[in-house]
Amino acid sequence: MMDAVAAPPDLFDAEHRALLAARTAYAQGEQAGAQACHQALGLLLSSYERLLRETRRLVRRSDRAELEMTQLNQRLQELAGELEYRATHDPLTGVLNRAAIIERVNRHFMCQGLALIVLDIDHFKRINDSFGHPVGDSVILGVVRCLKAVAPASAYIGRVGGEEFTVLLPQHDCTGATLVAEQVRRAIEAHAFGLPDASRITASLGVSWQPCGGRFDEAYGMADEALYAAKRSGRNQVVRAPDPVTA
Ligand code: GH3
Ligand code: MG
Ligand code: MG
Repeated sequence: MMDAVAAPPDLFDAEHRALLAARTAYAQGEQAGAQACHQALGLLLSSYERLLRETRRLVRRSDRAELEMTQLNQRLQELAGELEYRATHDPLTGVLNRAAIIERVNRHFMCQGLALIVLDIDHFKRINDSFGHPVGDSVILGVVRCLKAVAPASAYIGRVGGEEFTVLLPQHDCTGATLVAEQVRRAIEAHAFGLPDASRITASLGVSWQPCGGRFDEAYGMADEALYAAKRSGRNQVVRAPDPVTA
């Protein structure tokens, strides 16, 4: 013989009984005695009051749960934003990191030409060796300040290596980008970095431009070659890569 499965207790058993008693008294009409009506009404009242109390408690609890859910959702969105920021930005300077720069360059090349500036601080090792790494970091931050002050609103600034930066200029041709690079060079040369020996900082820059369909490696390689030509020519200068050969 199979065991009988116990039916789950009815949460509203008391209310159900009160309802039945009230219905019976109502159906009997005038034949229902005054005492039976009074009893049915009393039962109905206490059940109704209990239901009201429970409903109020549930509404309060559900309001609290909804508020908690909204707060958790907001926090989740903040964390997702933070994660996205950390994945795409350099922690020291707050500018774009190498991966984000590569992604933006390749995205722009899908539909348009793009000018690229590559910048490397001159004799930077001397700063670290003479004054220590934290002073070196402050110079890196000073260079970023100069870049931000000079770069047009449409530019993307990125740190692609220790003391190497890239500026993407989607709205400039090579001539326009070379002018921006020259402004950056002058801004760094004129900037007061506050070094203990009061020496100045300079940077060398290379500029390239590639038409739509270009690739990061190629555009960066050309700007980097121009940058090293600037280093070889005595540093603190801008060199523009030759225009791409058009078929
Ligand atoms: P050059 O004019 O040829 O560029 O000479 P340089 O001394 O600047 O040489 P290089 O560009 O090779 O030097 C890079 C140095 O940057 C080496 C490394 O110790 C330093 N560096 C890289 N990342 C950081 C950083 O985050 N903070 C500091 N303070 N130094 C860094
Ligand atoms: Mg370097
Ligand atoms: Mg350097």
